[in-house]
Amino acid sequence: MKKVIYMLTTLFLLGACTNGKQADNQLSADDGIDAAFEYKVDRFADIEILRYPVPGFNNLSLGQKELIYYLSQAALEGRDILWDQHNRYNLSIRRVCEGVYENYMGDKSSEEWKNFETYLKQIWMANGIHHHYSEDKIMPQFSQDYFVSVVKGVDPGRMPFRDGMAADETLKEILPVMFDPAVMPKRMNQTPGADIVQTSAVNFYEGVTQKEVEEFYKAMKDPDDNRPVSYGLNSKVTKVDGAVTEQVWKLGGMYDKAIERIVEWLEKAAAVAENDHQKETIQSLIAYYKTGDLNTFDDYSVKWVTDTTSRVDFINGFIETYTDPLGLKGSWESMVNFKSIEASKRTSIISENAQWFENNSPVNDRFKKEEVKGVSAKVITAAILGGDCYPATPIGINLPNADWIRSDHGSKSVTIDNITYAYAKASEGNGFKEEFMWSDTERERSKKYGTQTDNLHTDLHECLGHGSGKLLPGVSTDLLQAYGSPLEETRADLFALYYLADPKLVDLGLLPDNEAYKAEYYSYIMNGVMTQLTRIQPGKNIEQAHMRNRALISRWVIEQGMADSVVVMKQRDNSTYVVINDYDKLRNLFGKLLAEVQRIKSEGDFEAGKKLVETYGVKVDAVLHSEVLSRYEALNIAPYKGFVNPVYKLVADENGKVTDVTISYDENYVDQQLRYSRQYSVLPLKN
Ligand code: ZN
Repeated sequence: MKKVIYMLTTLFLLGACTNGKQADNQLSADDGIDAAFEYKVDRFADIEILRYPVPGFNNLSLGQKELIYYLSQAALEGRDILWDQHNRYNLSIRRVCEGVYENYMGDKSSEEWKNFETYLKQIWMANGIHHHYSEDKIMPQFSQDYFVSVVKGVDPGRMPFRDGMAADETLKEILPVMFDPAVMPKRMNQTPGADIVQTSAVNFYEGVTQKEVEEFYKAMKDPDDNRPVSYGLNSKVTKVDGAVTEQVWKLGGMYDKAIERIVEWLEKAAAVAENDHQKETIQSLIAYYKTGDLNTFDDYSVKWVTDTTSRVDFINGFIETYTDPLGLKGSWESMVNFKSIEASKRTSIISENAQWFENNSPVNDRFKKEEVKGVSAKVITAAILGGDCYPATPIGINLPNADWIRSDHGSKSVTIDNITYAYAKASEGNGFKEEFMWSDTERERSKKYGTQTDNLHTDLHECLGHGSGKLLPGVSTDLLQAYGSPLEETRADLFALYYLADPKLVDLGLLPDNEAYKAEYYSYIMNGVMTQLTRIQPGKNIEQAHMRNRALISRWVIEQGMADSVVVMKQRDNSTYVVINDYDKLRNLFGKLLAEVQRIKSEGDFEAGKKLVETYGVKVDAVLHSEVLSRYEALNIAPYKGFVNPVYKLVADENGKVTDVTISYDENYVDQQLRYSRQYSVLPLKN
């Protein structure tokens, strides 16, 4: 089950709208965030790096600020774990590249040096040598010979060659991984029929086959256990003396050095927790890091999800399983945040009405939850991003992932306002809507309602969509295998889309009128069928779960509504546009597909799920793709965004007593990455 949603539709569609109101709320002199706040930090390859403001931080209590400080340190200490999880050569490659970057004294004006610099920025963004989104290996735009010459051009004493290895030995190991397109080409390979364990570059498995891993975990599971732990979540699978075995990520186990530091900071955080419940939550997490026991992880998750009163909150650990081809292994991630009180009123209204939405959805009654439990939803302000939330970050999170915890204790769902806001500010006036929307009607609707309906879509997706519906007895989510993730996102998106057009939202005061939803409908289809293709290289398929889901929904409704011309693709001046002719019928189609996708999930109908995803969610129309790419290229917008974090500093008096925590926004991307590599890097080069 995948719960984090990434900034995709919103990224472009907030576009040129200047939302004065929001700006007033967000920017205050108290926070040191004024009109001169610089959202744009860096631009390279297909990436733009932004900076996010943390409005309200200075108004928190000293205790809350101190808590955020310790949790933010714990968030940064896990960075290298993620790098190593992504690929076992990542840390070696990064440290060698950084060694060159900081110490090379030769010509830095050449094209090759500039390309080397770009490469380093790219791998920082991806936390490794594979693109953070496409998962393809990032191919250096400088030659291998050039790289060897600059590595050898640096005083070896200043280079981080492993265990006293000479430059030649290190190079021998990393050169093919960096330069040979056939070596470890994909971080996660999902090609049907392939051994997806052996052909994926992630460091979750080594020397084992897919079949061996599947049998290993099958033997562990008790089919009668209705509260199973998350088997395999916190370990690497290898072979020792011919036997398949787990290396557990814990204190004293794999990643020991980094986990030790994380635990130290968490202990400091527990000491300044806001209340006993939060303190116990942090202590359970510490106990889990110490033992690696997945039952303790479940204890922690239950404590975490039931803490709904603390202002400050955090995620820290091995959580999401997106990067594992088998969907078992948790990538290390962290985010520290605090509740945005005013904006959370919106999500409270949705949560309070959760049962109404469940009861009135178009899915078969057999698949509905009789009682929707504890959908706790809030809008938060991110204070620090770490691990798999940095530099690319989600805009909404819904956790925990364990199904039984979700049905027994509910889930916590958040949308992250200051990140969304930074995206919107950075994309003002970029020409995107002018290029891709059909007419001024769509553009004006987008301007008038776009931000609001897009945020609401995220809220509905997170607060209600993922939490809705139930599995029939005896059905488990892993029946859908690799199709589970895109189908789960499809389900959550459809739930949101279906209800955006419901008059109930106007009654609840969440939308101003019955026109507003059209802004999101238009943007959604345009993105799903056309503009999200800007993130895909020519000739490639759609791989990422959220992108597959958006393509699936958009193409399915176009096809199903063809007889009535509900949504059509029109040509004008050699450009293709989406035109929606009948919004009512479009809503009905969303409802119809929702009912079907819920059935597939509830019954675990693998064949039907596979057919939907493979038919509508994977292939790319090559002609349309190349048209979209060239139109988009002309706008010169980076398809992916990442962020730098603010910098927090403890202020103490002469007795060492903490008197304040300050926040500043002046660190650039390169300096931040290099500082993190110095300050938070304790793992060996290979683990
Ligand atoms: Zn989702």
